[in-house]
Amino acid sequence: MDELDSQPGQPRGCTHRPRFRTMAHQQTSPRSVELEFGGPLGTAAMLLLLPVVLFHLLLTCHSGPCSLLNLPSELPPTSAFWSPWALLLLLLWLGLQATLYLLPMGKVSEGRMLRDKSHLQYPINGFRCLGLTALLVGLGLAGGLPLGSLSELLLPLASAATAIAFILSLLLYLKSFTAPPSALAPGGNSGNIIYDFFLGRELNPRFGSFDLKYFCELRPGMIGWALINLALLLQEAERQGGWPSLAMGLVNAFQLVYVVDALWNEEAILTTMDIIHDGFGFMLAFGDLAWVPFIYSLQAQFLLNHPQSLELPVAGAICLLFAIGYFIFRGANTQKNTFRRDPTDPSVAGLETIPTATGRRLLVSGWWGMVRHPNYLGDLIMALAWSLPCGVTHLLPYFYVVYFTILLVHREDRDERQCLQKYGLAWREYCARVPYRIVPYVY
Ligand code: NDP
Repeated sequence: MDELDSQPGQPRGCTHRPRFRTMAHQQTSPRSVELEFGGPLGTAAMLLLLPVVLFHLLLTCHSGPCSLLNLPSELPPTSAFWSPWALLLLLLWLGLQATLYLLPMGKVSEGRMLRDKSHLQYPINGFRCLGLTALLVGLGLAGGLPLGSLSELLLPLASAATAIAFILSLLLYLKSFTAPPSALAPGGNSGNIIYDFFLGRELNPRFGSFDLKYFCELRPGMIGWALINLALLLQEAERQGGWPSLAMGLVNAFQLVYVVDALWNEEAILTTMDIIHDGFGFMLAFGDLAWVPFIYSLQAQFLLNHPQSLELPVAGAICLLFAIGYFIFRGANTQKNTFRRDPTDPSVAGLETIPTATGRRLLVSGWWGMVRHPNYLGDLIMALAWSLPCGVTHLLPYFYVVYFTILLVHREDRDERQCLQKYGLAWREYCARVPYRIVPYVY
């Protein structure tokens, strides 16, 4: 009998086995035994591949043919990848966002209970920080700030962000050895340097009350993504002698809605896998600081270099698709968050639920009775909607949809394993009653 079989509520002979096994004597410092992302080899490959893919896509997007399957015919000189000004700009941006984060505004929320039974406090001021950033950018633009020229600095900015992500991950890895065992993440404590560097050893690394992971999750990268999009729109408008294209306007508007929504609902990230399960290592540091702003803005980058015309009826159909995606995404996320915060709230009190051994219940009707991850479905529909304005002549604008599908399918699998570990038989019952994972009758 292994450690798992002795856990309450854990079904025997279960085919979908949890990956993390906690030794009884290591309750406060679980050693990650079964590894994810292909273990040390897989994570070593990803350490190299993720930055390579990032730069390949940036270069391809700015090349004439913009072909995803071919290498760019001419590589720019190495000096194009590096600029001290880009590094300075990025450091100023991080400094600005960190200063805004520290401003005593908005409420303070408590995170989930940690293994040592304590709770961390988180400032819920992301939306206000976005507002203040918008105000500063607006004032800058009124004062003649040439924001459009940011689009010419994307390559060195991406290099600086990648370098900062590597340095930050190294510091986080070293810092984790000063943390108590109970502060380590269940998944990033395998003992293998590369694996733990990638996944992140410490769950919530902090300097005083400054939470590094929580800060990076939604602020510098997400707000930076919206800012880069705006710079690309302004650059396009300048090139066209006044107005941006309808396609660029739609991409900017959809993605801005996504960023604003994330910050408006910032409190909801306190119960996500990133905050309660994953450590803070290269995966999240690179993802938040380099991947999100530079990969997620690929559609706008593509449109600046490869203008597309969009008929009004097509634009209308795309808006409808986005609205459907957003409706599902927001409906599902709000329903679960409301239910987790207050199951007696009138908007969720009538929903059917399954009890679990933990005392927490699982929703089995409403959005969460349709598929096991309705929020992912909505997210994917929105991703498709903001790629479609780029037309169908190139694959590159659809990279995000393909990557995001892979990410969410993998994430869904990880979440299922964690839920099976948490809820045991109750989770099995939920899976039996809601058989589809993301797309009804398909997957
Ligand atoms: P989810 O919001 O999907 O949360 C999963 C958790 O919800 C489970 O671990 C479980 O936790 C709870 N849960 C699952 N099923 C039920 C149920 N039937 N009833 C009640 N609770 C349930 O997690 P994610 O962090 O993956 O995603 C959050 C959002 O972020 C999503 O909308 C996703 O699309 C988006 N996202 C976007 C990314 C991007 O790069 N744009 C990347 C990743 C995510 P518990 O029971 O402990 O509460």
